[in-house]
Amino acid sequence: MTPLRLFILLNPAIGIVFATVFLLLWLNQRNRLHILLMSGASAAFALGVLAQILIPAMPKIGLNTMVSAVLYQTALGLFVEAMLTRVGVVGNRRWILAISAAILGGIAYFFYVQESLSARIYVQNLGAGAMLCFAALRLRTAPTPKPIDRVLFWVVLLTGLHFLPRTVLTMLVDVPAGMITPENFPRSLFYSMLSFALIILALLLCLTFLLAVALDIFEDLRGERNRDHLTPLLNRRGFEEEANRRLVALHGAPASLIFCDIDHFKKINDGHGHAAGDAVIRAVGELIAGELRREDCAGRIGGEEFVILLARGGLEDARALAERLRTRIGALEVAPLAAGALAASFGIAEAGPDEPLDEVMERADERLYRAKRGGRNQVQG
Ligand code: GH3
Ligand code: MG
Ligand code: MG
Repeated sequence: MTPLRLFILLNPAIGIVFATVFLLLWLNQRNRLHILLMSGASAAFALGVLAQILIPAMPKIGLNTMVSAVLYQTALGLFVEAMLTRVGVVGNRRWILAISAAILGGIAYFFYVQESLSARIYVQNLGAGAMLCFAALRLRTAPTPKPIDRVLFWVVLLTGLHFLPRTVLTMLVDVPAGMITPENFPRSLFYSMLSFALIILALLLCLTFLLAVALDIFEDLRGERNRDHLTPLLNRRGFEEEANRRLVALHGAPASLIFCDIDHFKKINDGHGHAAGDAVIRAVGELIAGELRREDCAGRIGGEEFVILLARGGLEDARALAERLRTRIGALEVAPLAAGALAASFGIAEAGPDEPLDEVMERADERLYRAKRGGRNQVQG
């Protein structure tokens, strides 16, 4: 075993390690199919390199050439599908299969019909480069891109682009030196540069993808921690985090808070049971969620107490929304309660420039208390 061969074995080793890591991760996260696809891509890549090293070159039969080409292409296709599935860009199978079939068809043509190793090298490498560049452009169409997706875009694009100069430059050295023959190929500059580039790029691509998946999981966990389990709204912690962030981002533009508390809720629980109480909370939460614009946010911050941050809205906008909600809650029918059985009280407050969230919340809460003392089913502010 020469040092060069040992070095070339690094590629399947990296492939096997990542295939295992992604498989174990997927067993824990079965709803994320892209992790399994990435495990398959890493395994196919490792098998492709091993096939190229271990299967003897057989002129005419081409087992080595075709098996490794199919495995490399499978690795590439699975990798692209994994990247795009993760960000929700769908409908890629057809073009992935079409480009793969074209590449494999080209390789077969330049083996069985018009034998040319250099033509096969160009077809395989430039084909892979084109496929990665196209995948990078598709990544840009992700519906909700995150910062890590920009990193992935550049890593995939540059990986795709590198195929052209590396292939052309090494072939410029190898072809005149007579290295592009089946016997000399393992000692060609092209082959060692390819192996070296693949070690770096496979590591870079797999680690970036792993980081993206880890960030997705952290984000989902944080979302879970901040979400209310009964309504589509945030919980207290989630609301405070989100409202603070949004207030800062407003840079002094007006914003107001609406506090809402269901009237005589204890009577509903006592008279109709806890499940009926829960159904009422859910219905009011859904009603509030339906009234929010993109820039607003809302949370359930107590048993039957809700708060809404109205971004770019002054006290009059808050009053209008609170009145609309009051009317709609009054009209809610949640079995076994008839329409008109429910009511809620509201306290509204406008945030002063740079006023901390807790101070505005305190003011809105005082006004809610005033609405309760004033006879309930009303807006105070
Ligand atoms: P008021 O008009 O003054 O607001 O009267 P209220 O009965 O609505 O007031 P209070 O805040 O004292 O009662 C809230 C009740 O809500 C007490 C608690 O048992 C109940 N509760 C808290 N969380 C939940 C929940 O998640 N589900 C249900 N069904 N009830 C809850
Ligand atoms: Mg109440
Ligand atoms: Mg209450």
